[in-house]
Amino acid sequence: MHERFAEAIAERKASDRYRSLRAITPGPPGFVMRDERELLDLSSNDYLGLARHPELARRAGEWAENFGTGARGSRLVSGTLEAHSTIEARVAAFKRTESAMLFASGWQANAALFPALLKLEPKAAVFADWLVHASIHHGIAAARTKHHGYRHNDLDHLEELLEQHGRNAPARIIATESVFSMDGDRADLERLVRIARDHDALLVVDEAHATGVLGEGGAGLTAALADKPDIVMGTFSKAMGGFGAYIAASAQICDYLINAASGFIYTTAPPPPILGAMDAALDLVPGMDAERSSLETLGDQLRAGLSDLGFDTGASNTQIIPVTIGSEADTLAASAALEEAGVLGVAIRPPTVPLGESRIRFSLSSVHQVAQVDRVLDIMRGWR
Ligand SMILES: *Cc1c(COP(=O)(O)O)cnc(C)c1O
Repeated sequence: MHERFAEAIAERKASDRYRSLRAITPGPPGFVMRDERELLDLSSNDYLGLARHPELARRAGEWAENFGTGARGSRLVSGTLEAHSTIEARVAAFKRTESAMLFASGWQANAALFPALLKLEPKAAVFADWLVHASIHHGIAAARTKHHGYRHNDLDHLEELLEQHGRNAPARIIATESVFSMDGDRADLERLVRIARDHDALLVVDEAHATGVLGEGGAGLTAALADKPDIVMGTFSKAMGGFGAYIAASAQICDYLINAASGFIYTTAPPPPILGAMDAALDLVPGMDAERSSLETLGDQLRAGLSDLGFDTGASNTQIIPVTIGSEADTLAASAALEEAGVLGVAIRPPTVPLGESRIRFSLSSVHQVAQVDRVLDIMRGWR
């Protein structure tokens, strides 16, 4: 095996796919420090600046003091505190579902959800947008199920595949994100719900990048729908400024998942400090309309500026704005040039994005300012 490690690393280096960890230190709002330099941070998912909000830090500390740093057990054994149930009820109210359950992370939630669903019906036909998150792919693969990928946001294609492969299957499951993590565009959820109903399919929506940012009170794009997806997941690790994740669904579905989702059952319950940060975020986020609105304005400004300069930002219409460059090498060079100019704009390469679509994924935060976006555009102008 040791030779294989070396080969695998060498292969990645040769194809500009090699990745390594580079530490940053949080700086003033909207900035990070690296190698003693201050970089404007356009690469975080801290869309509302809550990761450094004093109230989240205070509440995390308070809950650690009151309830301890560890939950002491898994949820079904002895780890369920009143606090877990309180937060789960708050999440259900926030997402306007009957019930909700917490997970250690969004990755773990998706990785546990699909095997639990497919345990019920191993021959169910699964349909997923080509661009859904790695954790959804992992969950489907872990269930040893082959899925049918439909072209990104192409719901006509989804319907074709449902006709072709869904009809004779004993059940159907559709998986999408509401805001796509690497493209910053949105799914047509109303039509997806209609398609799911028409084909008697279960609809699963990942709201990782919409939660906190979009929808009434930042509740995401599913909360206000009259007819909702069957299962919604989301995370506290992005706009909510903390860590951990949730699945929100009917009481019956949650009841089943508590009994069947391995990544929920066989892991220690989320610890009190994390729950405290969740509680504070749930207090603050619904009232952050001003922050959401400036985030939207900054997104419009950066997108318009980039497209004036001739850059391709795809179908982005959110706080996530990709600049597709193409090859891994060119994208790495672009990222290095940005860093040289004082901006953190990290290169995203395959397998995170499709081959030939390497990109700088700009992500904005409400703590950013118009003048800072102007500065980024000035730097990008220098490249044309
Ligand atoms: C980040 C992300 C996840 C994973 O969430 P974590 O809480 O960070 O593990 C899941 N789905 C999507 C679409 C994501 O972007």
